[in-house]
Amino acid sequence: IRVTLTPIHRREFGITGTIAVLQDVTEQEKLEASRREFVANVSHELRTPLTTIKSYSEALDDGALDDPPLASRFVGVIQNETGRMIRLVTDLLHLSRLDNKEALIRMQQADVLEMLEDVADRFSFQMQQKDIRSEVRVEEGLQKALCDRDQIDQVLDNLVSNAMKYTQPGGSIAMEAAGAPGNLLAISVQDTGIGIPKKDLDRIFERFYRVDKARSRSMGGTGLGLSIAREIVLAHGGTISIQSELGQGTKVTFTLPLAANEGVAT
Ligand code: ADP
Repeated sequence: IRVTLTPIHRREFGITGTIAVLQDVTEQEKLEASRREFVANVSHELRTPLTTIKSYSEALDDGALDDPPLASRFVGVIQNETGRMIRLVTDLLHLSRLDNKEALIRMQQADVLEMLEDVADRFSFQMQQKDIRSEVRVEEGLQKALCDRDQIDQVLDNLVSNAMKYTQPGGSIAMEAAGAPGNLLAISVQDTGIGIPKKDLDRIFERFYRVDKARSRSMGGTGLGLSIAREIVLAHGGTISIQSELGQGTKVTFTLPLAANEGVAT
């Protein structure tokens, strides 16, 4: 708590009293601390690939270029790390646009079955390669969703890409949609993967929070996928939550507004 004291002067009497202002600064300080942590995280995340790029290009310069197979491996590493930096910066820009409310949400009616089947199609090659089955279930007669299709596609891509990353071959991913109370629609992405420990669940939507940093990096993750998904869902007026059982699987559910009933009699 910050205390500010201001004396009250009266010309003929001198100081006649004091005004004390008590200000609760805990929220402000928390915000500052999380801002500092974010900057430290971004710097670290960018520094790691830069250091790798620097050392591999030095190694090429120091003679590795004369050994073509080795050189081509090193170039591969450099390309990988550059790719990671591009993903990271793209994610950061996206988050910053969402934070500044610059990302216009263009609400349109969207067919939920089509939306989910399209995601399954986008990932079908990877799923086949990894021997992961996918399933789409949509409640019969479900109305259309009211959403920005591009943005919600990004949410679904992030969730399915996580489900793929953290599910072993032979597992499965189910995407489901059903009506929810309050004229909403709930969409969930459920996997049979490695799951998330209980102690991490509360913090999993925080920027750069990962259960296992090394694993996430080796999978090409930026640690921002779930934070971006959450910001997009909140911008739609929805909510997002996660349930997970270690070793059993994970289920992420988010809500969206339903479009008004089309069948208005004329
Ligand atoms: P990342 O780029 O690391 O995947 P995310 O923000 O998308 O970042 O996810 C944050 C962390 O949450 C991941 O690093 C991982 O530890 C955990 N996680 C997310 N989705 C799943 C899932 N389906 N199964 C297991 N762990 C998950």
